[in-house]
Amino acid sequence: MASGLTHIFTAVALGKTYTGEKMPPRFWVLAAVCAVLPDLDVLGFHYGIKYADLFGHRGFTHSLLFALLLSLAVVTTAFRMAPALSKTWWGLAGFFFTVTASHGVLDAMTDKGYGIAFFLPFDSTRYFLPWRPIYASPMRISRFFSQAGLEIVAGEVLWIWAPLTLVAASAWLYRRKKRSCP
Ligand SMILES: [Zn+2]
Repeated sequence: MASGLTHIFTAVALGKTYTGEKMPPRFWVLAAVCAVLPDLDVLGFHYGIKYADLFGHRGFTHSLLFALLLSLAVVTTAFRMAPALSKTWWGLAGFFFTVTASHGVLDAMTDKGYGIAFFLPFDSTRYFLPWRPIYASPMRISRFFSQAGLEIVAGEVLWIWAPLTLVAASAWLYRRKKRSCP
């Protein structure tokens, strides 16, 4: 996995790219939850579920179908004021889908572990992106505070935080320009 903090940072950056409006706290909280929730599958290790299984690590909870189901659940339960299938509804559903799916995409850029089963349950192939600059984050937090931990953080800041900040800042600038010259 990429680190939990990086998944949350990604959710915030995507949120800032998605909208310049003041959003309710639940929007940000749910975005962060969607970004980290796929890693709930690590609990399976304690119950004898193997890495390569359907519900193993980087399995179903990292798939696009899971992202779709989770985004629909979030929008229909937490954003009831958005009429179903309205423009706002599609926008929110698309946003929460993107945030959840971003988790698998970032994991697919890490250098260790199995790939991501993006297309479960239809295809169990584990995929990596062709470009994998991120060091996989250790599962034990104690190992995170070490030389290797520092290298992981530096890599994530360079390859994920910096580009996402640039994207969010560009969206902000674009909106500002659009407002000043309608
Ligand atoms: Zn993960």
